[in-house]
Parts: sequence; C-alpha cells; structure tokens
Amino acid sequence: MITILLIKKQTKKKKLKRIGIFVILYLFATFLIVPYLAPIFGREKIKETEFLQSHSFFYKLANRNYVRPELNNAIGKIASEFEMKNSGIKMVYLDANFPFIDKFPLLPHLSHNDGKKIDVSLIYETQNGQLTNKKPSNSGYGVYENPTEKEFNQASVCKINGNWQYDFPKYLTLGKSNKNIVFSKKGTRDLANLIVKQNEVGKLFIEPHIKTRLNLKNGKVRFHGCQAVRHDDHIHFQLK
Ligand SMILES: [Zn+2]
Repeated sequence: MITILLIKKQTKKKKLKRIGIFVILYLFATFLIVPYLAPIFGREKIKETEFLQSHSFFYKLANRNYVRPELNNAIGKIASEFEMKNSGIKMVYLDANFPFIDKFPLLPHLSHNDGKKIDVSLIYETQNGQLTNKKPSNSGYGVYENPTEKEFNQASVCKINGNWQYDFPKYLTLGKSNKNIVFSKKGTRDLANLIVKQNEVGKLFIEPHIKTRLNLKNGKVRFHGCQAVRHDDHIHFQLK
C-alpha cells in the first residue's frame, strides 16, 4: 500500500516537473526566441507605447501580437494621433497575427493569417461623457453595441440566412466588467477616421449600423460579410 502511494506521489511529481519545464521553455521561446525569428517571415511584435497597448497579457503570451512592419508603423501613428486629440486615451489592440507562416489562421478569425490584420477595441465613455480607457469585455470580444430599434440589424439578417456563427463571440467575453461605461460615438468615430486616413490601410470592418451611426463616409469602411462574425464589439482593419 505504502509503495503504491509512494509511486503515485512520484509520478505526480514527475508530471508537475514536466509541466514546469514546458512552461519555462514556452516562456523562453515566446519572449526570447520568437521575436528574433518573426522577421524571417516579414513580421514583428507590435511596438507598444504608453498609448498603444494590448487588452490583456494573453495576446502577448499566446504570440497573437505580430504584424508586418508597415502595419506596425501605421498603428503607432494612429495611436499617437488619437491620443493627441483625446488626451490620455489609449488605442487598445486585441488579436493581430501569429509570428510565422502565411495562411495559418489565428482562430477564431478566418483572415488573420498574413500579418496584415489587426483588431482594436471600441472607445467608451463614462455616464457623464468623459472618455475612458475601460472596456466592457474581459476578453475584449463579445460585448456588442447593439443596433437600436430604428437601426439596420445586420446580425438578425445573417442569422436568418443561416450564419449561426455570426453572433458567436457573445460566448467569448470571459465575463463582463465596467458595467457603468457606455459606447463613445465621438471617441470611436475619431479612431475610425484616423485609421482610414492612413495610406497603408486598405479596409476597415465595422457593423453597418455603427458605420451609419458614426457617419463614416470613407470608402475603406466595408461590410465583412455574414460568413465572418459581428463587428460591433471591435474594429478590424488591414493593410492594402
Ligand atoms: Zn479581425
């Protein structure tokens, strides 16, 4: 009996040791090796500044924060111009791309596979209209700025067409927080307009009712199609 218990304890220890070694190797590779290999694939880590930051450490830990150098330049410019207009407010990024291999998709996104794509958070404000850096979703996805009764409801159209996945990110919030903040029309409009102003940027995806509500006129602002997911919880943009 005692020997059995001892053996069990030992195998548990061995398992823990293996997990420990894996974690150390993973962290070592993620932070000390991958950044030096990514340029071979034409990508680099997003250069963070005080006003350009990831929504959570997860995106960096999972190596989902790689882009082409042209996109890195563009997002750096957008973030600093945005902060100049809206003092202290950050551009917060979500999923970008993996560091290697074109066409290897970053799930659940279909197209984030070439270093040219990035998602950023919408901008929010407090009840009395002050812009804030707080966001309503813990993951960064899935808390929608729903259409009003009078606005066009793309999500229900896609659902009727049988695209069940369109609404799926509502399961990916990992919980909601900051329930007292609201969508900022002015902040999100400023951000979207700065994004499309960049020469490097080819397209911006946002839900049609938000496009109308924010009066976004630039031809780069497009509808992503029912085969994608809803874009009233984040903005997607990409290089030409
Ligand atoms: Zn995207």
